[in-house]
Amino acid sequence: MTEIPLSAPDITEAEIESVTDAMRTGRLSIGPRQARFEEMVAERAGRRHGIAVSSGTAGLHLVLLGLGIGPGDEVITTPFSFIASANCILYVGATPVFVDIDPVSLNMDPKKVEAAITERTKAILGVEVFGNPAHMDELAKIAQAHEVSLVEDCCEALGGVYRGRQVGSFGRAGVFGFYANKQITTGEGGVIVTDDDHLAAHCRSTRNQGRALVPGGDGSIHAGGGAWLEHDRLGYNYRLSELACAVGIAQMERLGEILEARRRVAGMYMGRLMAWRDLILPTVPAGAEAEMSWFVFVVRLTDQYGQYERDRVITGLRRHDIGAANYFPCIHLQKFYRDRFGFEKGMYPIAESVSHRTIALPFYNRLDETHIELIVHTLSVMLRREQLLQRPNDTTGRERSQEV
Ligand SMILES: *Cc1c(COP(=O)(O)O)cnc(C)c1O
Repeated sequence: MTEIPLSAPDITEAEIESVTDAMRTGRLSIGPRQARFEEMVAERAGRRHGIAVSSGTAGLHLVLLGLGIGPGDEVITTPFSFIASANCILYVGATPVFVDIDPVSLNMDPKKVEAAITERTKAILGVEVFGNPAHMDELAKIAQAHEVSLVEDCCEALGGVYRGRQVGSFGRAGVFGFYANKQITTGEGGVIVTDDDHLAAHCRSTRNQGRALVPGGDGSIHAGGGAWLEHDRLGYNYRLSELACAVGIAQMERLGEILEARRRVAGMYMGRLMAWRDLILPTVPAGAEAEMSWFVFVVRLTDQYGQYERDRVITGLRRHDIGAANYFPCIHLQKFYRDRFGFEKGMYPIAESVSHRTIALPFYNRLDETHIELIVHTLSVMLRREQLLQRPNDTTGRERSQEV
C-alpha cells in the first residue's frame, strides 16, 4: 500500500448519509434515487435522457447495441485509452479501426479519423482522454458529414466544456463512468446520456433484462412495471442499485467543489513542474469556451528517454510510497488484440511513442502543498538518476528500451 496513492475518492458525510438514508427506505433497486441521479447527470451534460448503468463499460456496450452495430461493421476509435473503450466494439462483434492520436491533446487526430472512414464504418467512438475534450466538435462534424454516429466515451471527462458545449453533448450518445478513480464515483457505475428517445428506450430495456417498456408514473419510460416477466429483446442486468445512486446524487451535488479541488491540485503540479525541460506537461484546451475536467495528472518524459527509463522512474516512485502508473499502454498492442487482429508495433507511432513515456502522478482532491512537494522532489531525484545512468553518448538505455 503506497502512502500517497495514485487516486482516492472524495467521500464526505454527505455521501455516507445519503447511502444510509437509501438503505432505511427498503427500496434498494429501480427507485427514485436512480431517476434523480440520471436526471442530474443528464442535466449537467445538457441532455434529455440519462440511463444509469452498472459501469461505464456496460454503458458503452448498450449504446453500441442500441445503434444496431454488429458483425461486419467498423467503429473508429483511439488506441490510446483505457481498454474498455475498444472492448465494447468487440462485445457486439464489430471491428475496431484504430487511428493515431494528436500528440498535443492525446485524443484522436480528426484528419486521420476522416481518412479511416469506409463504407463499413458505422460509428466513431471518441474518447476525451485524461479529461481533455479537445476535437470532439470536429469529430461530431465528421460523423455528421459521413452519416455515421459519434459515440462519446466521456468516462474521463465529466464536467468538461469544449467550444461552449458540455462534455457528453457532442455525439448520438455519451457515456460517463463512475469507478472509484473518476472525478465522481458510485463505487462502480455509469450513466448513458442522449437526446435520442428511441436509443434511450432501447438502453433502458437492455440494461434491465430486455424488459418491455411501460410508461412510468412520472411520465418517463421505465422498463418493468406490469410487464416484469415479459422480455422484448435479449437484455442484460446492467442496473445500478439505489445505494450506488444515493452516493452518486451526493457526489453530483458536490461536483462544482470537486472539479475546483482537482483544478487546484493540477495547478500546484503545473506551477512546480513548468520549468522542467525533461517533462512535457498536460495541455489544457485553449480558449475561454473550453474547460478541462481533470481526471488524472499525466506527465510525459521527453524523447531522450525511452520506455525502460520511464518504467524505472515509476518503480522508483512506488518504492518511495508514491503511486504512479503508465497510463496507457496502447490497446492495439495488448496480446489478444494482436492475436485476433494482427496489430503490430509501429502501426500507430504517435500513440506508441507517447505511451512509452507517460507517468501518471498521484492525483486526488486532498493532496496539499506538502504532498506535492514530496512527489515533485522524489520525481526529480528519479529523473536525475536516469540522467546520470544514461551519459550523453551512452545509448544502452535506448537499446534496452527497444527490446521491451
Ligand atoms: C473508466 C473508463 C471507462 C469505463 O470504465 P468502468 O470501469 O467500466 O466504469 C471507459 N472508457 C474510459 C476511457 C475510461 O477511462
